[in-house]
Amino acid sequence: MADFRSIRKFETAEDYRKNFIVQAEIDKYLPGGKHFIDDAKINTLIKSMDEDGEPDPAQVREIIAKSESTRETLTPDETCVLMRVKDPDLFREMEAAAERIKKTVYDNRIVVFAPLYMSNLCVNGCKYCGFREGNGEQRRRVLSMDELKEELSVVAGRIGHKRIIAVYGEHPTTSTEYIAESIETCYANQFAAPKSGCKVGIRRVNVNAAPLPIADLKVLRSVGIGTFQVFQETYNRKLYEEMHPAWSVKGNYDWRTTCFHRCLEAGVDDVGLGVLYGLCDWRYELLATIMHARDLERWFNIGPHTLSFPRLEPASGTRVPEESPWLIDDDTFHRIVVIARLSVPYTGIIITARESAQSRNRLLGCGMTQLDCSSNIAIKGYSDFADEAQQDKDRQQFMLGDNRSLDEMVRYLASRDIITSFCTAGYRCGRTGGCIMDALKTGREGKFCKINAVLTFREWLDDFASEATREIGERLIRKELEGIKEWLPKFYPTVLKQYEATARGKRDIFF
Ligand code: SAM
Ligand code: SF4
Repeated sequence: MADFRSIRKFETAEDYRKNFIVQAEIDKYLPGGKHFIDDAKINTLIKSMDEDGEPDPAQVREIIAKSESTRETLTPDETCVLMRVKDPDLFREMEAAAERIKKTVYDNRIVVFAPLYMSNLCVNGCKYCGFREGNGEQRRRVLSMDELKEELSVVAGRIGHKRIIAVYGEHPTTSTEYIAESIETCYANQFAAPKSGCKVGIRRVNVNAAPLPIADLKVLRSVGIGTFQVFQETYNRKLYEEMHPAWSVKGNYDWRTTCFHRCLEAGVDDVGLGVLYGLCDWRYELLATIMHARDLERWFNIGPHTLSFPRLEPASGTRVPEESPWLIDDDTFHRIVVIARLSVPYTGIIITARESAQSRNRLLGCGMTQLDCSSNIAIKGYSDFADEAQQDKDRQQFMLGDNRSLDEMVRYLASRDIITSFCTAGYRCGRTGGCIMDALKTGREGKFCKINAVLTFREWLDDFASEATREIGERLIRKELEGIKEWLPKFYPTVLKQYEATARGKRDIFF
């Protein structure tokens, strides 16, 4: 059980707003008041992009080669050169390199997860978000632990997810104590799988919540948090302040930008960065993301475990998603993901169901590593709605674009020779933070995880798959086993033994 003695408690929203932020935990990571997001440098680079035109192809190829061979984060200047490429043939070379890097680092696996919204109460006033305080169109609630169990019975028990991203508004009712209790509830509940009767449940709980102080992060670590995601929304301070009122906790740009430094200090060492694309010039955001990643690497030798690419979607009670001057089209979005893959080669890339099916299908070919499916983001939507894909604008943060079920997605991925991975072994074996960074950069993790992907795929096919999905899944699994036999002939008998045990109903075997 979590020990909450070290963390502060706030009774009212006002008390929380006034006293939550710990200034010393910001100052420590902005020595001399200098911010690692170098606004002047970014603006100079953007100006050069506008003025310099197409770069020398030889220089572009050199940068691609560096990214592929070292798998280290590029410099903002190098990323800027990639951003200047307009020539379609040269861009196709970049796309092909992005896909090769993805294959080397992550092989042909795609990790799947489901979002699980715990609350829509919020003390903040983000102008693009349906949850913001004062939005009368939103029906508010915080899941009780019993209601959370009902949600889990669908997400883990009926759909078959092993991994969730638990999402929270920022409010005293969803304090760190609540977050910790909800993580523990997710891990504690098991259900009988519909096809096999085997015991199934959630094995990794990632969290998307507001920035926290170090003491609170240590509590989340103690209950087994996976990745801690905090999206910066925009790195441009001026636009950030326009979108997030000064009276709100979120209005403090420095508290948010130093959040991952505190995570890594607290030992929460899988951190997930993201930008809400559409709020500002995408070139600013991507260059700032590189600066953020590099500053984390400089302090801790650990970069982002994942980068997420949320794009502004329609939400209740706001016109910002329709009217922002910085909205981007699908081609630009695709471009951003390719450049990001080359710029931070080791990182996981998450594309959520905010995107349309068409957009996500296209992005599969250029470096994406994780996606959500069978997603329902209405609060208590999984258990309340008879139709999995139903949406309700008044109890969800924004609207989803891709409502394919997990079964459909597994089948689609298999048709493209991609194995769906339900593996959660990494963090449970201590392969997090710096340890996973090394494994990813050397390409060891990609191969190693293939074995776990095959075992968990076997589990899911037997526990949840429809006949059509099972059929195509079986074909893929045979091919994958052949691949492992060729790649690891001496170890193969051990793998096969565990595979057969899984097929007989043994669960949660991992390497
Ligand atoms: N409330 C916490 C916070 O803002 O840090 C937790 C995250 S919030 C529930 C999840 C994320 O949804 C936000 O960080 C933001 O990037 C994204 N979001 C908010 N409004 C959105 C919209 N209209 N379209 C797409 N994504 C949106
Ligand atoms: Fe609250 Fe997060 Fe929405 Fe902002 S984005 S209003 S902090 S839930």
